[in-house]
Amino acid sequence: MVVTVDGPAGSGKSSVSREMAARLGFAFLDTGALYRALALAASRQGVDPADHQAVTAWAPGVAVEARLEGESFTVLLDGADVEPFIRNEAISQLASKLSALAPVRARLLELQRAAGRAGDLVAEGRDMGTVVFP
Ligand code: C5P
Repeated sequence: MVVTVDGPAGSGKSSVSREMAARLGFAFLDTGALYRALALAASRQGVDPADHQAVTAWAPGVAVEARLEGESFTVLLDGADVEPFIRNEAISQLASKLSALAPVRARLLELQRAAGRAGDLVAEGRDMGTVVFP
């Protein structure tokens, strides 16, 4: 079973989703962390979100993964946990810009669906019930 929680920024999706996943005993996937991981990769590699050609060439090759560890998915970039590096204003802004681009959304689509096939899941993000798990 996949429970999807869609909603705009600041609406409280994360808190509700984490609590719901814990109560149900389902895994939890924070899809914003995936977009933030891509932003981290872009900032490390100097990819400019305004350069759509560069983003199109770069996005498919980004080594981002979601690995189930205990009850939640840990987001990895080049095999390392991104969590300590993605909760800051620079990454928020870059993630927001990148998330508007189709190649970036395409890069993360199958990865998110694979998380849904791994077992029962609560998935949080603005397009969960509309696009990723319709
Ligand atoms: O939720 P959070 O602030 O961590 O999301 C980071 C960025 O990724 C936001 O700009 C958000 O719009 C974007 N995002 C998205 N689709 C999702 C999850 C997040 O475009 N499913």
